[in-house]
Amino acid sequence: MSDYQERERKYLMATFKRLPVTLVRGNGVRVWDDRGKEYLDFIAGIAVNLLGHSHPVVVAALREQAETLVHTSNLFYTVPQIQLAELLVQNSCLDKVFFCNSGAEANEGAVKLARKYAKLYLNGAYELITTVDSFHGRTLAMVAATGQQRFQEPYTPLPSGFVNVEYDDIEAIKRATTSKTCAVMLEPIQGEGGVNIPSEDYFKQVRAWCDEKGLLLILDEIQTGLGRTGILFGYQLFGVEPDIMTLAKGLGGGMPIGAILAKEKTSVFAPGDHGSTLGGNPLACAVGYASMKFLLGNDVAGNAKRIGDYLIDKLEGVKSRFDHIVDVRGRGLLIALEFDRDIADELALACLEQGLLLNAVKPNALRFMPPLIIEEKDIDEAIAILERVLSSKL
Ligand SMILES: *Cc1c(COP(=O)(O)O)cnc(C)c1O
Repeated sequence: MSDYQERERKYLMATFKRLPVTLVRGNGVRVWDDRGKEYLDFIAGIAVNLLGHSHPVVVAALREQAETLVHTSNLFYTVPQIQLAELLVQNSCLDKVFFCNSGAEANEGAVKLARKYAKLYLNGAYELITTVDSFHGRTLAMVAATGQQRFQEPYTPLPSGFVNVEYDDIEAIKRATTSKTCAVMLEPIQGEGGVNIPSEDYFKQVRAWCDEKGLLLILDEIQTGLGRTGILFGYQLFGVEPDIMTLAKGLGGGMPIGAILAKEKTSVFAPGDHGSTLGGNPLACAVGYASMKFLLGNDVAGNAKRIGDYLIDKLEGVKSRFDHIVDVRGRGLLIALEFDRDIADELALACLEQGLLLNAVKPNALRFMPPLIIEEKDIDEAIAILERVLSSKL
């Protein structure tokens, strides 16, 4: 065990079940540990590093903005924040943006926005319908929104106003709707819940129901947004438009940033209603802007689609050669491989030893979410490692 791991145990709260390596450097789709060992990175900072590690465009923006202006607070106008907001609005179906620092914070703000909207237009309704196996973040309210018992249990009583129903079940949403309901909050594809893809018509039905009842549809695109699913935003996969959308993870090119986006009519915050000291600061926004400009200008989402299809095809091949694999599913470069037993942690560790970073998204499923700039030859290399591991473990 490295010295770092002992010092971590001494000084840090034991909140994370870390993989047993200390990463010190990254480049493209690869990272290196403190002993110089190289890994192919199919975790990408949990779907954050869309352009991989130390992308020249990201590094240049980081360096330039650091030398110019890092932070001012939101008492002032700053240029990178306006540029990033403009880019987001021009490339999405939403009209207005609020910047914060993380996914959970973006979702919290989205809930506040929905509640304020409901005070104005829905008789003060305040309840949100969310789904089982969703993931919306770790703040107290987002733990209540997240329909997973293991995240909720240690912290009860939770804030009220959240009802968790089954995902991909329009009737469950209809049954849970009351005069207190103000919004439905969903992930286009459930990421942390295991890469769960809803039926083709689910979102159209949810949208129709929200329209019929006057409810807001909030899409949490923190994991699916910005090209991850092979298209810029997950809602485009299903032909619907949300009233509110949240982003974080990949938005900052690795810098911590989150955003709430809303349609004009839903954008009801007034000065003083909501805020953030560091949210949208020049450094985070300049890097996010550079990263998103590159992503748009180089059809990185298109690459995610093409390489994602290639990876799914390879994984289908792996599935046909090994027993105990029961499913391959995903869109773009958000993919899961499911087993008929709880072997994912063991497989992830064995892959790590062989130089491939993979995440055990569930006890019985591995998740593949490499940088979106990945190429076929990297996929081939990862598949070779995976097959070697599966041959020894299955
Ligand atoms: C990661 C994630 C969050 C939480 O984001 P943080 O930045 O960790 O707070 C929320 N929703 C979804 C869908 C996520 O994948």
